[in-house]
Amino acid sequence: MYDLVIIGSGPAGYVAAIRAGQMGMKTAIVEREKIGGMCLNWGCIPSKSMIESVKLYQRILKDSARFGIDGIETGRVSFNWDNAIKRADTIVKRLTGGVEFLLKKNGVEIIKGEARIASANSVLVENRLLETKNIIIATGSTSVPLEKSIEDLVIEPKELFKQRSIPDNIVVTGNTPVAIELAQLFRMMEKSVTLVTAADHIMPKADDYIRKYMEGRLKKDKIEIVYNTPVDTSAGMWKDGILEVGGKSIKCDLIINSSSRKGNLIGSDIKIDVSDGFYIVDQDCETSVKGIYAVGDVNGISQFAHIGSAQGLHVVNLLKGIRQKLDIHKLPMNMYSVPEAAQIGLTEQEAQNEGYDYKISEFPLSANGKAMSEGQSDGFLRLISDKKLGEVLGVQIVAPNATDMINEAAAYMQLESTVYDIAQTVHTHPTVSEIFMEAGFEAVDKAIHK
Ligand SMILES: Cc1cc2nc3c(=O)[nH]c(=O)nc-3n(C[C@H](O)[C@H](O)[C@H](O)COP(=O)(O)OP(=O)(O)OC[C@H]3O[C@@H](n4cnc5c(N)ncnc54)[C@H](O)[C@@H]3O)c2cc1C
Repeated sequence: MYDLVIIGSGPAGYVAAIRAGQMGMKTAIVEREKIGGMCLNWGCIPSKSMIESVKLYQRILKDSARFGIDGIETGRVSFNWDNAIKRADTIVKRLTGGVEFLLKKNGVEIIKGEARIASANSVLVENRLLETKNIIIATGSTSVPLEKSIEDLVIEPKELFKQRSIPDNIVVTGNTPVAIELAQLFRMMEKSVTLVTAADHIMPKADDYIRKYMEGRLKKDKIEIVYNTPVDTSAGMWKDGILEVGGKSIKCDLIINSSSRKGNLIGSDIKIDVSDGFYIVDQDCETSVKGIYAVGDVNGISQFAHIGSAQGLHVVNLLKGIRQKLDIHKLPMNMYSVPEAAQIGLTEQEAQNEGYDYKISEFPLSANGKAMSEGQSDGFLRLISDKKLGEVLGVQIVAPNATDMINEAAAYMQLESTVYDIAQTVHTHPTVSEIFMEAGFEAVDKAIHK
């Protein structure tokens, strides 16, 4: 009898498994494809590696001369997709190998195969029945296929980094951070890119201020956004490299389907409640069946790896009697755009709706010495605080390393810090993170360098 069987080895499942092993629980993890799941094999890691490659390419093209580097003939510089993929693959192999090593080191049994729930206390993997006290479903999500797809024209993100080459005219569907990252990735490869979304906005859940900034940025990058338009690839809608969308004819050789996703629900001999293609869970990620938990993308709460991992850890701690509150507002959102964008806590719109008497304190990157030295001073930090008590309610950052910097905000929020704490936290100089201190000063009274 296992203490815990985890189905799925993405960031939600494998982190929970390692933690369970560390805590002495007899644990098995079942995986039907590759250890590391979507995130490590086809999502977060390869996409970030490729984004770094194109960012370097663009910097060489645009910045080398002004940074004082002679001898680069920009006309001869080109982007080699194949070699960049090879680099990404090496990183993926190293990380997935590391995860497998850690699972084994912590005594977690890795079982290959497709899992099915046989009862509240048993999981069937092919012909083997695993009896267990608890089950965590961490099976992730999959893109909802585009209807009537023309074969070969549409690919899923999972297929993207297996492509041998990329054609000139790309359509990315969707409005999520991943869709925006992919749109910019191809634009930085000098492809023509159109982002088509059925929604009337990009970046769901983002503060309007960041959203507007990013819309402007995508326009500047010459990425056209077509709103309120589901992509239709039925007969006649695509012909000879032209796609008809929303009354427009767009050049299109490849569509990357990055629109909505649905949970990977698994076969089960008992009923587990589902809504809109995701498992319904309570605040502790427990499903409608006692002892069966669902964490990560499959419960539909978010589609971020770190949130899945946090949920997995939460469940394992709970099973060991450690009760903590999992506050979704204290979990950051990140987007690896150029520049990066990240936020945590309440958006201004949420602060308004919740009736807070709040203050906004903003500090621009253009007044920061390190950002100027790095030649990347486009962006800002925006602090939302309670006017009377000074408590930090939310933070939004647009900056080259916003996805790293947001973790400082996460610490402030975890410790329920005030703007006085931020202002009093001495930051090293010169660093981009100094904009925290400046926004803190601005919230208390006045920023120094503004
Ligand atoms: C291109 C791209 C870029 C992304 N970039 C980021 C990023 O930078 N940051 C970020 O936070 N998020 C990013 N994401 C999202 C991130 O990949 C997901 O949020 C994350 O992978 C979800 O983790 P998970 O563990 O819930 O599921 P997954 O990582 O999808 O893992 C689920 C695992 O379960 C297995 N499985 C499914 N059903 C069964 C079954 N019946 N039996 C056995 N095994 C099963 C699957 O094979 C899979 O390995 C990105 C996504 C994409 C597509």
